[in-house]
Amino acid sequence: SRKPIIAGNWKMNKTVSEAQAFVEAVKNNIPSKELVDTVIAAPALLLAPMNYLRQGTDLQLSAENAYFENAGAFTGETSPAAIADLGIEYIVIGHSERREYFHETDEDINKKAKAIIANGVTPIVCCGETLETYEAGKTAEWVEGQITAALKDLTPEQVSNLVIAYEPIWAIGTGKSADANTADETCGVVRATVEKLYGKNVSDAVRIQYGGSVKPENVAEYMSKENVDGALVGGAALEAESFLALLDFV
Ligand code: 13P
Repeated sequence: SRKPIIAGNWKMNKTVSEAQAFVEAVKNNIPSKELVDTVIAAPALLLAPMNYLRQGTDLQLSAENAYFENAGAFTGETSPAAIADLGIEYIVIGHSERREYFHETDEDINKKAKAIIANGVTPIVCCGETLETYEAGKTAEWVEGQITAALKDLTPEQVSNLVIAYEPIWAIGTGKSADANTADETCGVVRATVEKLYGKNVSDAVRIQYGGSVKPENVAEYMSKENVDGALVGGAALEAESFLALLDFV
């Protein structure tokens, strides 16, 4: 009974005019949000014009990051309050690219989760292991540690409304997706971690996405798995036709 959530993550791709063309191409061609949450995560600069064009449609939007303060002397950062004021529904936090290239820590991600929730926006909290950790058989303990740290001091109600994305780093942009059983197993580890910390009602409610080389040809198989409630999609979400094809399983 968890509603599926399919989110494209554009990363640092597209200009405002490209984003506008994409929204026009998809906004009236997606399934009802009664059936599936359909989301595009876009660079902050693109969100306001995209938001204007998607009004009255089922297309939902996400930022790809935000700072953990609402205002102040933080040159170059994006305020979660400004994102909330537009009516943007989600903010991705803790993507592996932010952790690796911008040195975000579990503690930063926890602060961001709290700031985003305080603004009434839903965090999409990312976790996932490196190839080295995967090959050492330490995925479960790694992901459990990331989730425990990211959700520290949140209330059960706050956690039940979150989205968590499991993205093995070795599957991102490589074309080497985790097979559906592996994705299901580790999304199950995430769910068990939430159950241990917050109880079964919360772990039954929290939505968990798989990400890493998801495409129209494999999305249905992931979505058939018990612990996979959605997908976070990079490359295959950049073109309108491919993005719409990700929703064909609905
Ligand atoms: P790809 O779908 O391009 O592998 O990217 C996954 C990702 O990082 C989504 O956040």
